[in-house]
Amino acid sequence: MSNMDDGLNITAVGKGFGPVQVLRDVSLSVPRGAFHTLLGPSGSGKTTLLKIVAGFTPADSGAVTLAGRAITDMPPEHRNIGVVFQHYALFPHMSVTENIGFGLKMRGVAKAERAARVEEVLRLVRMTGFGHRKPAALSGGQQQRVALARALVIKPQLLLLDEPLSALDRKVRQEVREELKRIQAETGVTTVMVTHDQEEALFLADRVLVLEGGALRQQGAPADIYGNPADEFVAGFLGAIN
Ligand code: ADP
Repeated sequence: MSNMDDGLNITAVGKGFGPVQVLRDVSLSVPRGAFHTLLGPSGSGKTTLLKIVAGFTPADSGAVTLAGRAITDMPPEHRNIGVVFQHYALFPHMSVTENIGFGLKMRGVAKAERAARVEEVLRLVRMTGFGHRKPAALSGGQQQRVALARALVIKPQLLLLDEPLSALDRKVRQEVREELKRIQAETGVTTVMVTHDQEEALFLADRVLVLEGGALRQQGAPADIYGNPADEFVAGFLGAIN
């Protein structure tokens, strides 16, 4: 594994909404190229943490660095982070090609290069030939592949995924999960994924982080977490979602 400074570093991040403290002094590091999953019950602050890293929500305190750069106060479009969030749906009126190329267009990438980059990521997610279709003419699994392509086309230094597979049925979910693992390995992009699904976390992650009440309760290799939960909360939570 490469130097920690090449990856994502979150230091003592705190966040409240009014009187509610949603994140308490969260610190974690994701080495470059690693795939970490963030597990925790609903309301534990997982999405808020990803939004702070992506730059969609400001932290109250703490710092975030990516590849050695302080990004805490940078606008999202300068952070070089690809995101697939549940609510971040594809634009329905645009074709697959336009959806994927949109971020490049916003960044001023010329048309010919855009077309080449879009073809390249369509190949990566095995959706070559679907560029002209509208999202409504794709299955749920295909739409998520396109969402992934859209996140990867900017060649991000970090990929943030918030429950990207949760809306899919079991069979498709397993297919897309395998694709996701292959794509992450092929691109080597540093990845943090929020999931409720223990099996998914086991299959995908080289490290699992457990968040509860806005604090990091435990982190480790999947087998360590499941084999040796740090406390009753982690044991109970893992049991409950078994
Ligand atoms: P998780 O992703 O683990 O389900 P969230 O990060 O979405 O948790 O939410 C953590 C807590 O913060 C919840 O209690 C939620 O209601 C609250 N919260 C999230 N976003 C906002 C917001 N924009 N305004 C007020 N409260 C919020």
